[in-house]
Amino acid sequence: MAFEGLSERLQGTMTKIKGKGKVSEADVKDMMREVRFALIEADVNLKVVKEFVKKVSERAAGSDVMDSLTPGQQVVKIVKDELTELMGGEQSKIEFSTKQPTVIMMVGLQGAGKTTTTGKLAGLLRKKHNRKPLLVAADVYRPAAVQQLETVGKQLTIPVFSKGTDISPVEIARQAIEHAKAEHLDTVIIDTAGRLHIDDTLMQELKDIRALKEPDEIFLVVDAMTGQDAVNVAQSFDEAIGITGVVLTKLDGDTRGGAALSIRTVTQKPIKFIGMGEKLDALDVFHPERMASRILG
Ligand code: GDP
Repeated sequence: MAFEGLSERLQGTMTKIKGKGKVSEADVKDMMREVRFALIEADVNLKVVKEFVKKVSERAAGSDVMDSLTPGQQVVKIVKDELTELMGGEQSKIEFSTKQPTVIMMVGLQGAGKTTTTGKLAGLLRKKHNRKPLLVAADVYRPAAVQQLETVGKQLTIPVFSKGTDISPVEIARQAIEHAKAEHLDTVIIDTAGRLHIDDTLMQELKDIRALKEPDEIFLVVDAMTGQDAVNVAQSFDEAIGITGVVLTKLDGDTRGGAALSIRTVTQKPIKFIGMGEKLDALDVFHPERMASRILG
């Protein structure tokens, strides 16, 4: 299960402090040492760990906490609040355009789960927001990505715009937007090409697609299992093309949690969805508070 180690450690630490009738500065220090260790073990970005520890320590040392009747419980609440903040605080909304169609670009490296997530997102937007999506097969480099998206579309009964692999992804995207307008499909979700690593050609192509009609959302799909690599990928994509949010996949696996806890602070971009399995309905809206509760038990 995801966050298992982190959860266990933090819960142990929280139980200790919760039970205390009085909390001393030394108690807070001890707790923070354990929290710091737990976060580092979970592969959280070091800068993020430092900031987190500083914030919690400052708040916990306040006289309103220390002199209260239930200092232990208040400290635990502070940890939960700050953990929630770390993951973005509020749940973030999806932007839909007032000018049809809404365009969503899905970007990411190969294997992150981009094509699967493109399908999942279309299903979720149809179900929760009553949208009429069009899936666009613009990942023309990965063998079988086009067919994969077509299969996903069939399973979901959502139309897929595909033109094979002999024309440029930019042209496919351009035609797809026209097609969506003609067919009154209000949400175009473009599965762009993924590569094994970030390169200029990939970024230029994404910029060219972006230039067709300013996308309402650019979602970066990253694999939670890759930890700090996922954070670095997010930073690179954001610097190069500007992303509006992150979809963190494979949170059903046994990821330590580093990516989930670092991405927001490092990139300032929210995690909007999480992938919870291979099935096409295994995509959830990301709720920072719920995730913090899950971690702290
Ligand atoms: P792409 O190369 O980024 O387009 O990746 P794919 O969409 O082909 O996904 C790569 C693999 O990851 C496939 O086997 C997917 O079923 C799997 N996958 C995608 N999202 C998730 C997820 O949230 N959880 C799990 N367990 N597997 C996932």
